[in-house]
Amino acid sequence: MQLFDHPEHDGHEAVTFASDAASGLRAIIAVHDRTAGPACGGVRMWPYANEAAALTDVLRLSRGMTLKTVMAGLPLGGGKAVILGDSRTDKSPALLRAFGRAVEGLGGRYIGAEDVGMSPADMAVIAAETAHVAGRGVAEGGSGDPSPLTALGVFEGIRAALRHATGSNDLSDARVAVQGLGHVGLDLCERLHAAGAALVVADLDQPRLAQAQVRFQAMVVAPHTIHRVGADVFAPCALGGVLNATTIPQLGARIVAGSANNQLATAADGARLAERGILYAPDYVINAGGIINVAAEIGGGRYDRKAVERKVCAIADTLAEIFQAAGGGDTAAIADRIALQRLAGLRQTATGVPAG
Ligand code: NAD
Repeated sequence: MQLFDHPEHDGHEAVTFASDAASGLRAIIAVHDRTAGPACGGVRMWPYANEAAALTDVLRLSRGMTLKTVMAGLPLGGGKAVILGDSRTDKSPALLRAFGRAVEGLGGRYIGAEDVGMSPADMAVIAAETAHVAGRGVAEGGSGDPSPLTALGVFEGIRAALRHATGSNDLSDARVAVQGLGHVGLDLCERLHAAGAALVVADLDQPRLAQAQVRFQAMVVAPHTIHRVGADVFAPCALGGVLNATTIPQLGARIVAGSANNQLATAADGARLAERGILYAPDYVINAGGIINVAAEIGGGRYDRKAVERKVCAIADTLAEIFQAAGGGDTAAIADRIALQRLAGLRQTATGVPAG
């Protein structure tokens, strides 16, 4: 397995492989860039097919966090952690505490937060071993589950995309296909339903589908067909890589705007979407609500939910600027260009050395 020559390495500052035989912990903690502040990113627990898949995922997600925090103007760098295993069967307090010790060993270079397979209660267990954890429950002095703020940002992002594409952000006549009814997806459905949108949903979990049918009168389709549904918006809120050479020609929506990280399988897929005239809300811009919330907790001052919500709603303005700048072209490439320019500016300020 390659590391320094890995196609996703992208100059990562540090990659730590952590293990604990007693609890069965196997984890990778990636610190991509700390120019703007300590590297912060979610802790994901997932049953990866193999170690190489876990490494690729953590490197891509970690770099994405650098772009996300820079784009949202947060004093945080980019990092991510993955724990190899099934969160339903392999997670234990001993494993979470061993992970906490690994994070503590990094001395604050990485701050963990909740991600797929983790809950605020799990973050509290990790926090027994390290102070470098955010997204703990409100009762534990944290800012709570970041997912509702992520959903708020995605909801406002969808409205911004609709406004750009149609001239109106009214959702009452809109049809939205939501892939994944987890922490973010269900909350997003609730907001879309309240705004009058018709919903089509897919998930692997039957109880969540039943909930969406009852609460939102959502139409249920099979997971492998949701991207093909004829809709105004396709909202990927499950895992990454859903926009690729196979799925893009099959997309049934004119807008793609959802919470999932790394939605594009490759950089070329941004151009593929543009060629089809599909407006793509770059994932790390539209899904920054959670990290904006987490940053408010890390900031140390009084946690002000209203101020956080205002900042999250401003994601719509950032997206509008990107859509405008792209002029019908590749929005993902434009977002990357802006984020990397800002990062270069921050590096120059930090080191005094002009960007090359
Ligand atoms: P979650 O684990 O709570 O929910 C994911 C849902 O997707 C689950 O219900 C799962 O059953 C479903 N799913 C998995 N594979 C699927 C498939 N092939 N088809 C349909 N459904 C499928 O996760 P979450 O916290 O809601 O996050 C969702 C996505 O948003 C992830 O990619 C995550 O990285 C990203 N994200 C989340 C946050 C946050 O605040 N939670 C912030 C930024 C980005």
